[in-house]
Amino acid sequence: MATETPAAATGTATSDLYEVLDVERGATQAELRQRYRELALELHPDKNVGQGGDATRFVALQEAWAVLSDEAERRAYDARLQAAEAPAAAAAEIDIDDLAWDGVAKSFVHTCRCSDMVHVTEADLDKGCEIFECPSCSLRIRVVFQVSNDQEDDDERE
Ligand SMILES: [Zn+2]
Repeated sequence: MATETPAAATGTATSDLYEVLDVERGATQAELRQRYRELALELHPDKNVGQGGDATRFVALQEAWAVLSDEAERRAYDARLQAAEAPAAAAAEIDIDDLAWDGVAKSFVHTCRCSDMVHVTEADLDKGCEIFECPSCSLRIRVVFQVSNDQEDDDERE
């Protein structure tokens, strides 16, 4: 059977190519092209690192552009993206109160049925993420929590 390598460490088999190009998903081809050119100049590895050159991002940019500049590939990619982001039919709802807190990793942890850990960081929650994917078995959980208005301020400052 297919060996499922947890592709990108973050579990994003569909890393967002639009983010790589820093454009809206609905961007026109002209907008994409312009942004691609700007970024290609900015990140070109011939530049000194301190001046913005970034070989890794440059390669990612090329890959993103290769897909998004091709209409058929872009459509296929959009479909994959949508499927990946569709309000996960399979996502199990987990109340945040039922998650364990990992003080070392500074994140909430859900032990998946595959016994791997799904990490739910506060930073992600702050960004509005609520769907988290297990890095090993791609089970998705939706974290639900009650937003309380009278939030306790245990953020002690000196
Ligand atoms: Zn799992």
